[in-house]
Amino acid sequence: MIVIGAGIVGSSVAMGLAERGLKPLAVDIDLSGRLSSSEKNAGGMRATWWQRVNIELCRASIEYCQRVRDEVGFRQQGYLWLYDDATFAQAVEHIPLQRELGHPIEALTPAEVNRRVPEIDKLDGIAGATFSPADGLINPNLLKEHYRARALKLGAQFLDRTYVVALDAGASEVRLQCWQSDEPHTDEGLVRMMTQDGSGEAETGRVFELVADSIVVAGGAWSPAAMKLLNLRNWTQPIRRQVCIVDNRVTNLANYGMIVDTSGVYFHHEGAHILAGYSPPDEPPGYHFNYDGEPFFLNEIWPRMFARMTSMERLRHITGWAGLYEVSPDRSAIVGLAAPRVYEAHSFSGRGVMQSYAAGQALADLIANGKYSAFDASALSRDRFARNEQVWEELHI
Ligand SMILES: Cc1cc2nc3c(=O)[nH]c(=O)nc-3n(C[C@H](O)[C@H](O)[C@H](O)COP(=O)(O)OP(=O)(O)OC[C@H]3O[C@@H](n4cnc5c(N)ncnc54)[C@H](O)[C@@H]3O)c2cc1C
Repeated sequence: MIVIGAGIVGSSVAMGLAERGLKPLAVDIDLSGRLSSSEKNAGGMRATWWQRVNIELCRASIEYCQRVRDEVGFRQQGYLWLYDDATFAQAVEHIPLQRELGHPIEALTPAEVNRRVPEIDKLDGIAGATFSPADGLINPNLLKEHYRARALKLGAQFLDRTYVVALDAGASEVRLQCWQSDEPHTDEGLVRMMTQDGSGEAETGRVFELVADSIVVAGGAWSPAAMKLLNLRNWTQPIRRQVCIVDNRVTNLANYGMIVDTSGVYFHHEGAHILAGYSPPDEPPGYHFNYDGEPFFLNEIWPRMFARMTSMERLRHITGWAGLYEVSPDRSAIVGLAAPRVYEAHSFSGRGVMQSYAAGQALADLIANGKYSAFDASALSRDRFARNEQVWEELHI
């Protein structure tokens, strides 16, 4: 069994397979994950989704992270989500399902928001809010390393600097043509390679073939390239998302988890600073990694945060980065059997960290036993698009 891609999802799948005695090999062009979404995200974990399968996978992942909380830096301080008139009714409508599936959540008035977080002192435009105390923030890098360490201990292997350039899924096996570079890529070399289709530039290395009984495509935003190699329909688009680190000496948000404003800006305490993100709705798809820097902060982040909190007046930009969302048509992940001998787990549409554990376990069960057991991810199979049984979610963090 070979897993293509060892981000947080591929690493979790590798752990799940190793737990079931399957000794997988996970290959990745850059195990350090410099461009992977798993290294670029905001670390949010929540289960306040609209669809049963998404709530269940997130709930199960949260419960797992509770068990290993110190190892993975899980801060279970909740999500406080502020809504305007247009969106509050939608949020409230989904509370019964979230509660039914065991996820605690309460609705708040604007005055209760201010009592809970006094720093939120400008309440204009807030129709209501939700607070979900079991949600929180995680260190995604520690979680990925946790999956890898456990996978390695149980016999999995990880192959670095290796790019899968061709795939042939036959009747009895899958053949993978791989290119392995002699040296780690420079940052620029990696960007050139991961923004084009293929190995991109002439570098020293070797080409070799791997043969597997079956494969898992867990290539994140690059899964479309694997689908093309397999002549399978691609449903995924990469979309740039930016976050920044800002400094504010006046306010300490350490007692709160994630806060999402009516304007769409989201933020949380991050070390001595604040991490803040915003996703412009008109961002064009593509493999874009350029971070817009100070203008992103000045145009998108600061005005929204100051409009909500007086204490954010002197917010200062420190740094930031851009990474990719891997977005499916209904904004839910694609998990399951893609073709004979080809499994897939990708397109988590901004939910890959918070679903990684349960998605990995679900797929490992499907591969090892031919059916789902503890977690049923069948609603996320690619067939849903043909059947017109989409699993619609809002696109957010
Ligand atoms: C700004 C931002 C904020 C986000 N915030 C959150 C959040 O708060 N919570 C949350 O749950 N999610 C969040 N996400 C989404 C989350 O980061 C992703 O859903 C998740 O990391 C996807 O993990 P993955 O393993 O599928 O993909 P990746 O981490 O991208 O890993 C894919 C790996 O596959 C490798 N690869 C691909 N193709 C090949 C090939 N042909 N050969 C070899 N290797 C290959 C790549 O090198 C890469 O390492 C955010 C994303 C961004 C960009």
